Amino acid sequence: MRRDTLTVRARYVVPVEGAPIADACLTIQGPRVGWLGPAADRRHDLDLGNVAILPGFVNAHTHLELSPLADGPDGTGSWPEDEIDWLRRVIAQRRSGSDESLRQAAERNLAATIRSGTTFVADSTTAGMSWPAIAAAPIRAVVFAEVIGLRRERGLHTDAAAWEWLASVRPENQIAACARVGLSPHAPYSTAGWLYHKAVASGLPLSTHLAEMPEELRLLAYHDGPMRRFLEDIGAWDD
Ligand SMILES: [Zn+2]
Repeated sequence: MRRDTLTVRARYVVPVEGAPIADACLTIQGPRVGWLGPAADRRHDLDLGNVAILPGFVNAHTHLELSPLADGPDGTGSWPEDEIDWLRRVIAQRRSGSDESLRQAAERNLAATIRSGTTFVADSTTAGMSWPAIAAAPIRAVVFAEVIGLRRERGLHTDAAAWEWLASVRPENQIAACARVGLSPHAPYSTAGWLYHKAVASGLPLSTHLAEMPEELRLLAYHDGPMRRFLEDIGAWDD
């Protein structure tokens, strides 16, 4: 066995671009998969037994610091279907949690994400809150600082916090962490146009929420409905 090559045997290897291969071997050469196929075709160094090997999962949209919501309102792990109700709980949690509790939540949720086989996340976070956990973890990522606010004062505040964090992460930090930084203007109903324009002008990777639920479509099309009442209730509505 060459030092940089390892061939493992498993009950299944799932190449994804083809059907799963039963009783299979996979050869790892340095950072890459060098070969995979039936176990009968190659000697193996290590037999992993009754497991399936498959590529790491990509989670293209996470909010790691919101993991305290994982247990659900009644501790059962289930959530109501009403997404406005869910949004109210998200806001309540964000407003009641300290920065430290949100950072700890990001760490816990990231650990669970990695345990589940995820090797890449695109995480939206408040002023880079999830960055320290992600940068220290064996996972690749794009970490988006969220900017939000229809009213100018709120927009200025979240924009300043986002850019303060962006300025603190040097290019060599990103290379070392296998992670990039970006900006996430939250959503068209929550974020002023100038914040979108500034994010685009930054040249950074961008992420935004576009009509995740029917209530948002109704708000964008007719300026009314449950989303409007929700935004009025939390003091975020701007005529
Ligand atoms: Zn989201």
